[in-house]
This record gives sequence, structure tokens and C-alpha cells, in this order.
Amino acid sequence: MRIGGQRSLEAQRAAMVAGQLRGRGVRDERVLKAMGEVPRELFVPGWRRSQAYADEALPIEAGQTISQPYIVARMTELLDVRPGDRVLEIGTGSGYQAAILAKLGAEVTTIERQEDLIAQARGRLQELGLADAVVVRAGDGSAGVPEEAPWPRIIVTAAAPTIPMALREQLDPDGGRMVIPVGPRDRQELLVVIRQGNEWVERSDGPCVFVPLIGSEGFPHDA
Ligand code: SAH
Repeated sequence: MRIGGQRSLEAQRAAMVAGQLRGRGVRDERVLKAMGEVPRELFVPGWRRSQAYADEALPIEAGQTISQPYIVARMTELLDVRPGDRVLEIGTGSGYQAAILAKLGAEVTTIERQEDLIAQARGRLQELGLADAVVVRAGDGSAGVPEEAPWPRIIVTAAAPTIPMALREQLDPDGGRMVIPVGPRDRQELLVVIRQGNEWVERSDGPCVFVPLIGSEGFPHDA
């Protein structure tokens, strides 16, 4: 369908799912369905709406970014979320990743350090009817949320210099799983960490680039 000479946002979303996700090996049908349902255009600044389905990360407010659709889908697939799973997300940003997790039936707690992003993400989640499934908190997520640990699933959407010890320890010892980009500021590896008792098995899903995790177990603020 074309509106004003442009493909409609629905058509762009369907093309993104087919080309950028399915075409590049995202297999989980539940993830593909969620990515096909959540209107990404709601999560980008108004003047970037026409780029909402571009194959790239986009700048959002407060100097942050909304990740590329492929990386959101891939991280979600690697997290392996079942309906009812409790998920801790570090780095709410636009709220888009939290919305995808909520669509999959997860109970999401997401933490953001930039106050202005928090209000905006809450508003968007409310608009989509997902507010009951997502708690948006302010704070330094590199320290996790110990009072609600253990967490069966943790997803970090900012680059950490190393895996924060607090997050390691808050991961459920009974097969808890964390997806986290780890490495220097300009280039990271997307790690999947699975905990069994006091063993943490890590593997890399490949290179990636994220904005830095700033905090007690992240990068220093002014570096
Ligand atoms: N998941 C987001 C993308 C986030 S970009 C989305 O779907 O749009 C990374 C976010 O992490 C930024 O908004 C940044 O402010 C936030 N961040 C960085 N360090 C943080 C910390 N220690 N605690 C919480 N949020 C942090």
C-alpha cells in the first residue's frame, strides 16, 4: 500500500521483518511476530519517523540510540523468553526493546539513568497498552536490582567494559540467561551468559556496537 508516494509504515514494517530479520536468519516465529506488531515509528523522534524501519540504529533523545531492528530481534531471540518470564533490562532508551519483550508475554523491569527518557518510554508503553507488563525505573542499572533477584533473564542494551559482577550474581543459578554487549567503547562482542549453580558459561554471538553503559560497573561518566 502506498500513501502519498511512500510505502505505508505497516508495509515498511512487514518488509523489515521479511528482509532484515527472516532474511538474515532470525528464526523464532514469536520474535518475528512481535517485531511485526510493535510500531517502531512510535519509538523514534517524530522527525525521524520516515526512517523508523531503516536497517540501522537511530539517534534518539539525550544523545542515545534505538538499536537496529536486527540487533533487537537477535538479542530477543538469544534471550529465549517464555510468557510469564521475569526479565530485567538495563538501558530503557526509547522503550522499544521493552515493548518487544512485553509482547512476548514477559514481565519486564527496565532501568534507565536518563530521566527524560523514562517519562517518554512510560508514555509510549501506556499508549500501546503494555504499561502493566513493564515497570520503568530510574537508576544505575549496572548494579542490577538486587531486591528482586534472582532474575531468570537479564538483557543489557548498552556496552559494558566487562560483565558487571552484580548482574552475574543476580542471574538465576538455575539456568538464568543474560545477553550483554561486552568490550571497549568502540566495538563489543554480543555475549550470551548462562548460569548453572556457580558456573557461568559464556559464548559470543558476534561483534556489535552499542552506546556505553555508564555507572558503577560500567564506563566512567566523563571518559
Ligand atoms: N533498549 C533501548 C536502547 C538503549 S540505548 C531501546 O530499545 O531503545 C542504551 C541506554 O542505556 C541509553 O538510554 C542510556 O542512557 C542507558 N544507560 C547507560 N548506562 C546506564 C546505566 N548504568 N543504567 C541504566 N541505563 C543506562
